[in-house]
Amino acid sequence: IVKVQDVYKKFGDNEVLKGVSFDVRKGEVVAIIGQSGSGKSTALRCLDHLETINSGSIEVCGHTLGTGKVDLHKLRQDVGIVFQSYNLFPHLTVRQNIMLALKHVRKLPKSDCLVKADYVLKKVGLSVKADCYPEQLSGGQQQRVAIARSLAMEPQVMLFDEVTSALDPQLTGEVLKVIEDLAAGGMTMILVTHEMAFARRLADKIIFMYEGLVWESGGPEILTAPTTRELQDFVGTGL
Ligand code: ATP
Ligand code: MG
Repeated sequence: IVKVQDVYKKFGDNEVLKGVSFDVRKGEVVAIIGQSGSGKSTALRCLDHLETINSGSIEVCGHTLGTGKVDLHKLRQDVGIVFQSYNLFPHLTVRQNIMLALKHVRKLPKSDCLVKADYVLKKVGLSVKADCYPEQLSGGQQQRVAIARSLAMEPQVMLFDEVTSALDPQLTGEVLKVIEDLAAGGMTMILVTHEMAFARRLADKIIFMYEGLVWESGGPEILTAPTTRELQDFVGTGL
C-alpha cells in the first residue's frame, strides 16, 4: 500500500533524506524510530505530500508522489496524519471540529457528518465529550479527538508522528490504547514513536533511521538483537 524508493530530500543544502526506501503492506503496523534529527518526521511528511521530495519515488494508496502533480484532495482522504500538536479549533466543540473536517474534505451532507462524527468519537471512547470545547479536555483526550477527526475521513493509511510525546504516562496510555484498537481492527499504520515497548509489542516492522537513511529494519526482534552498532547504541540509551 506504501512503496518508498530511494527518496532524497534537502532543505537548502541540508540533505535530510539520503536515499530512503521501505515498503508497507496493507494491514501492517510499522514503527519508525531513531535519534532526533534523523529524518523521521520528514519521511512521514513526504508520505502525505506535506514535503515535496527532490528525487526518488513514493507510491501511497495508488497515488504517485514525485515531482509531478498530485491530487491532494484525494490523497488527504486516503492518508490520515496526526501530529504531536492536536490543532483543534478552540471555538468549536469536539463534535463540530470533526464535522467541519468531514464537511470540507468529504463534502457530505450535515446529517451524514453528524452520524460519522459520533461514530468515530465512540471509537476513541469520547462520546460523552462530544459537546465539550477542546480546552475542557485533557491533552490525551484532545489527542484522541484529533485521531477521531482523522479516522472520520476513513483513510486507508494512518500516519502518527510522536502523538504521545507531549503527554504524561497515564494520558499516553489512553492514546496508545486507541492506536492498539485501530491495529486490531486492521488499520494500516506508520508511527514515529519513542515508545520502544509499545513499538516492540505492536509493530509488525521496525524501521531504524540514522542520518537520513534506513539503517536497519526488520521485525520487532531487531530491538532485542540489533545488528548495527548504531541501533545497539540507540536501544542501549533507551531513547
Ligand atoms: P525528532 O525526533 O527531533 O522529531 P526527526 O527525526 O523527526 O527528529 P526531522 O524533523 O525529520 O527529524 O528533521 C531532520 C532534519 O531536517 C533536521 O536537521 C531539521 O533541522 C531539518 N528540517 C526539518 N524540517 C525542516 C524545514 N521545514 N526546513 C528546514 N529544515 C528542516
Ligand atoms: Mg520528528
